[in-house]
Amino acid sequence: MHAPAPVLPRTLFLDTHDVARLIGVLGLPACLRGLAGTLRADYLRWPEFDKEARIAAYSEQGTIELMPITDGTHYSFKCVNGHPGNGRHGLPTVMAMGALLDCDTGMIRLLSELTLTTALRTAAMSALAAQVLARRDSHSMALIGNGAQSDFQALAFATLLGVRELRLHDLDRRASERLARNLAAAELPGRPLSVRLCDSVAEAVRGADIVTTVTAFQGRAQVLDDALIEPGMHLNAVGGDCPGKTELDPAILRRAEVFVEFPPQTRKEGEIQQMPADFPVTELWRVLAGDAPGRTRADQVTLFDSVGFALEDYSALRFLQAQAEAHQVGTWVEVTPGQADPRDLYGWLQGELRGEQRGEQRGEPQSRPALVS
Ligand code: NAD
Repeated sequence: MHAPAPVLPRTLFLDTHDVARLIGVLGLPACLRGLAGTLRADYLRWPEFDKEARIAAYSEQGTIELMPITDGTHYSFKCVNGHPGNGRHGLPTVMAMGALLDCDTGMIRLLSELTLTTALRTAAMSALAAQVLARRDSHSMALIGNGAQSDFQALAFATLLGVRELRLHDLDRRASERLARNLAAAELPGRPLSVRLCDSVAEAVRGADIVTTVTAFQGRAQVLDDALIEPGMHLNAVGGDCPGKTELDPAILRRAEVFVEFPPQTRKEGEIQQMPADFPVTELWRVLAGDAPGRTRADQVTLFDSVGFALEDYSALRFLQAQAEAHQVGTWVEVTPGQADPRDLYGWLQGELRGEQRGEQRGEPQSRPALVS
């Protein structure tokens, strides 16, 4: 009997430049469509996943969260922060990284940036929810909060729902101007986007088919008042995503039909943290699977109380892995040592210290075998 040939435990590493390159290769609309398709396929497998609410460390400045999930074949996690005051340090509010592992062996298959990817997957998820919850004739959206996530939200709704009219509002006018400039330069198939900057939330929301709130404030904000909500609107509330951090007037929750990702997490972190523990909600996967109704009337107010769930990062990591391998993007790295005798870790270290292994060149980027140069 031969011993099995040693498997070199190589890990595919994707940094932000790699993910940007992938988006360049695929095109952003195709990327959003591909991600939404992967999200949908994985949400339809909901019962197969071992799910838990994310594990969070809260401080006065923000949150650091660990988001694990597995379907028994792959295990993934994301580590992400939310620090609304980070602009003071020249840092983004949200930054993330994550990994995908094989359940059979525990091998780390993929290590990836997830900051850019979080913006993409959140936007694709918002649009996927709106596809089953918003009125079919929706063509206009108010976008409140015009920071890092907002461009992706706008482009996902334009790509996946055909939204063509955007009304932008932010407390900081320069944020809306930045977003408007980026949207004017964005290449989208079909009719061009019409973009209007609004001085108030009320001006942006009046007559809109969809309202997306994606603001960052470490506290109970009331970005949307109940008086502004019109029959038939779909609300996509993205910014309230941890305990004590909300965006909506609770009166809106009482009259809207509320859809959530994973109730145990959303009850702690979402808009519905403002409501009693038995507040009725519908799990979005049931709507996608045809097990529960989404919108039932044209005049109904629907709300996707988005907080971001680990399944979405699992989908994003699987999507990235498939695309990176198909398009030869990324770098192979040795996150774990590849010793010939798996039990001789010490021997591997000695060889490494004697410079006998490739690791002697570590630190020189070109020493890593790139999938593409
Ligand atoms: P960002 O800091 O880049 O932008 C936030 C913007 O909101 C800023 O331009 C700020 O001026 C504006 N703002 C704050 N309060 C406002 C108010 N009351 N009215 C209008 N504008 C206001 O942050 P970002 O990366 O775009 O993230 C936005 C929010 O989305 C954060 O709270 C983040 O935690 C959340 N988020 C949620 C998910 C999810 O899956 N649900 C995923 C990613 C980020």
